[in-house]
Amino acid sequence: MIDTHVHLQDPAFDLDREAVLARALSAGVEVLVTLGTDRTSSERAVELAERFEGVYAAVGIHPTQAHQASPGDLEALARLAVHPKVVAVGECGLDYERGWCPPKVQWENLRRHVRLSRDCGKPLVLHNRGAHEDLLRILEEEGAQQVVLHMFTGPAPYADRCGERGYWMSVGGVITYPAAKSVREAVARIPETLLLLETDSPYMSPHPIRGKRNEPANLLRVVEAVAAVRGENAERVGFRTAENARRCFGL
Ligand SMILES: [Zn+2]
Repeated sequence: MIDTHVHLQDPAFDLDREAVLARALSAGVEVLVTLGTDRTSSERAVELAERFEGVYAAVGIHPTQAHQASPGDLEALARLAVHPKVVAVGECGLDYERGWCPPKVQWENLRRHVRLSRDCGKPLVLHNRGAHEDLLRILEEEGAQQVVLHMFTGPAPYADRCGERGYWMSVGGVITYPAAKSVREAVARIPETLLLLETDSPYMSPHPIRGKRNEPANLLRVVEAVAAVRGENAERVGFRTAENARRCFGL
């Protein structure tokens, strides 16, 4: 299995990062993509990718950090993006629910990431909270070509529209929450070739360990929940989504 979205450089893993990776491997999670959220964490992501074989990196500035980034930070990301173990541009996107960063600043940050993704030929990994329409509009205006919608939560008609555009949809722990019925409906509709899995570790722990530190080994719970809503075998879901991730990130 491949965990397409973690933050392995997060200080939450400073005391036991190698043990976390060992547990992931014993759970069958052989490859991880660790995403930066600003310049420093992107540099750290690349360092970890250099150090651990199954770890790959993505570089980007998170929408809630965009107001703190300088033009020099984006230039630094562009230099990192060509590294052979950098497989994507992100985490970027739009967040209208945590009001730290004005939308105008987020839009410009997103547009720059779309251009960087096109320039380096690597997919764009997007965070979206409450910005469904603006996100699709900006992606279209900027001619985004390879798009991954991280922690995809639907709703179902949005899954259909994203599927028509050929965007990958990455499913994480939210699918296990008892109240997340609309998420499960949306996940059931994702085309099989566009489905990816993630944990977003150390965040977004699945039910019933919600609120505790998450780690890639918990991808098993996500796989089982996805298989249940799609009426498929968990092993097959793990295998097919890993194939998709290899195609998406060129692994
Ligand atoms: Zn994330």
